[in-house]
Amino acid sequence: MPLLVVGSVALDSVETPSETRDDLLGGSGSYFSVAASYFTPVQLVGVVGDDWPEEHTKMLQSHGVDTAGLETIEGEATFRWKGKYHENMNDRDTLDVQLGAMTRFDPTLPDNFRQCPFIFLANDPPPLQIGVLEQCSAPKLVVADTMDLWINTERETLLKLLKKIDAVVLNDSEAKLLTGESNMPRAAREVQKLGPSLVVIKKGEHGCMLLAGDRLTVLPAYPTETVIDPTGAGDSFAGGMMGYLAEQDTVDTAAVRRSLAYGTVVASFTVEDFSLDRLANLTREEIDARLAEYMKIVAID
Ligand code: AMP
Repeated sequence: MPLLVVGSVALDSVETPSETRDDLLGGSGSYFSVAASYFTPVQLVGVVGDDWPEEHTKMLQSHGVDTAGLETIEGEATFRWKGKYHENMNDRDTLDVQLGAMTRFDPTLPDNFRQCPFIFLANDPPPLQIGVLEQCSAPKLVVADTMDLWINTERETLLKLLKKIDAVVLNDSEAKLLTGESNMPRAAREVQKLGPSLVVIKKGEHGCMLLAGDRLTVLPAYPTETVIDPTGAGDSFAGGMMGYLAEQDTVDTAAVRRSLAYGTVVASFTVEDFSLDRLANLTREEIDARLAEYMKIVAID
């Protein structure tokens, strides 16, 4: 089944304790699309400016990503994000955001994207996420991401969105900000009361938690020893997870639990290099081999 993603397509600058890189391909839509492309055809909706390097679009297309919904706005610059990682490589500060073309982002979905059953609304402003959802005619699984900025500034619209979707992926600090609850299982239950039946809380290198109905699942991160740049891990996690569900064309709880393992493994590749350098150069065989290794790591006899 095809998978629709609406998200940022960006040029990032990333500072880690050992290295700084500028003008990297980034954005939630980019990471999600490539991560999911190992499982299923992806339809990407996003916006860039006239400074956008065409080679990035070609790379996305080489992964079978349909870029018909990637709009270029003349006279505007591509969205830019600059982040700096702390020594622990888990916490980061946003140093700068230049919205550029994103300020004019008001997507009209291409006709053939509207019937897409699997939909990921990346961390765009909630009014935009609702506007996209209203254009979708046959949703089977709608998952949304959000961020501290929207929880603080667009809470009312975010609460409206939560009532319209099946699942939300948040990191632990966002779940706490949204609910006021710092105990994660309790925070997940509070989020569920706001609408989505599936709540996924990501905890960076500490793994993730799923609340599906009243069933909790907790998984560790894959213990990679190479952490070069964690940017995009969350979006790659969501891409691996939803890619697997769209490939299997199912939303049953057993498959959703399995999809967490795929998300975990795909994200573990992303952090092993800057930008999409590792993520975009994978094979499905490498993903499946690491998944098999991961299954051994989490299995207890
Ligand atoms: P993650 O590390 O999974 O949270 O994703 C990081 C990506 O999100 C980076 O490539 C950024 O370009 C993108 N990003 C950062 N801030 C925003 C924002 N306000 N809106 C949309 N995308 C963003």
